[in-house]
Amino acid sequence: MARLDAFAAFSDERGRLTRLFLSEAHRRAAEAYIGWCAEAGVKARIDAAGNVVARYEGKRAGAPALMLGSHIDTVRDAGRYDGNYGALAALAVVEALADERERIEHAVEIVAFGDEEGVRWRATLTGSRALAGDYPKEALHQKDAKGVAMCDALKAFGGDPEKAFSIRAGGVGAFVEAHIEQGPVLEAEGLPVGVVTAINGATRLEVGVDGLAGHAGATPMTLRRDALAAAAEMTLAIESRARAEADLVATVGRMEVWPGAANVIPGHAQFSVDVRAPDDKRRAAAVADIRARIDGVAAPRGVRATVAVTHEADAYVCDPRIVAGFKRAVESLGVPPRLLPSGAGHDTMAMGRLCPAGMLFVRCKGGVSHNPTESITAEDCAFGLAALTRFVRDFQLS
Ligand SMILES: [Zn+2]
Repeated sequence: MARLDAFAAFSDERGRLTRLFLSEAHRRAAEAYIGWCAEAGVKARIDAAGNVVARYEGKRAGAPALMLGSHIDTVRDAGRYDGNYGALAALAVVEALADERERIEHAVEIVAFGDEEGVRWRATLTGSRALAGDYPKEALHQKDAKGVAMCDALKAFGGDPEKAFSIRAGGVGAFVEAHIEQGPVLEAEGLPVGVVTAINGATRLEVGVDGLAGHAGATPMTLRRDALAAAAEMTLAIESRARAEADLVATVGRMEVWPGAANVIPGHAQFSVDVRAPDDKRRAAAVADIRARIDGVAAPRGVRATVAVTHEADAYVCDPRIVAGFKRAVESLGVPPRLLPSGAGHDTMAMGRLCPAGMLFVRCKGGVSHNPTESITAEDCAFGLAALTRFVRDFQLS
């Protein structure tokens, strides 16, 4: 917890935590991380993509590695635990092994990813995507708000834009990430940690509703084709569909209305729908139902609805052996293992393209994240670390 506090001082903005990829604050954070590794007797380095990586050897030199870590970039005006918790917990695991001079079968590699949030340039997960051999090459030539290209910033940071897209970490047998939950489930159930089963897939829809604008005083209720009233009923139908199924969420987060005057019946409404689920088939079924419900509301009201898919990302199902390993680790510490999906995206889904991957969630206060009031207790911090350490000691890399 003291280290997380010290780490939070590495900020690009005074008075609040903002640590953007390849910034001065990121450089200082990376240097601190490398320094703490050195104190533990482990040599860390900055890789071509701007990640900090280190390796603690197993019983045999050159053995395949279990990799642990998370990201150390933040959003603007961030909390101090998102990402940083997992990066520092990984370091703490290696410190514990080094303290005991304990060698396990596999090597343990730790990583502090440089870019997960994608705030400075318009590409997310570039740190983990680099290790997975899936680097968004086009991102290198993007410019930030001040006109600085990512490739120039990467060079200045000690990375290598020529090599960033051809890293693909060899010898990594599995990847695990400890992370704050960023949701309220564990707190509601009184549990310090949870085991992530999947990172939700998402579908985003843009729905347009065409009715007929008319005079708000002169048009009787029975003769109206009110686009907003229809969109409102569609919103409730979408909500009720999502409520009918565990772990499925659907949100209408934006709605616009035309012409938008107090004395005119709305002629057109436009809204977004965001649907997420840990299982792609269930998400597809929910999206099909939502489309049917939208049509079911539109027809009797005499309005026309058009639905376009604007974004689609499949779920990442965490590796079952890793899920089982975390379950055993949590159970062995006397806590019932709660399995839950992740509603937010994480480095784990990028690393899942390279090797089996999984996650452990730690309870955070009120489920609040991406906010300076983000908070975890010292007890939960320690419990998460104990579960991660237990997992690392017991997991068999096959
Ligand atoms: Zn994060």
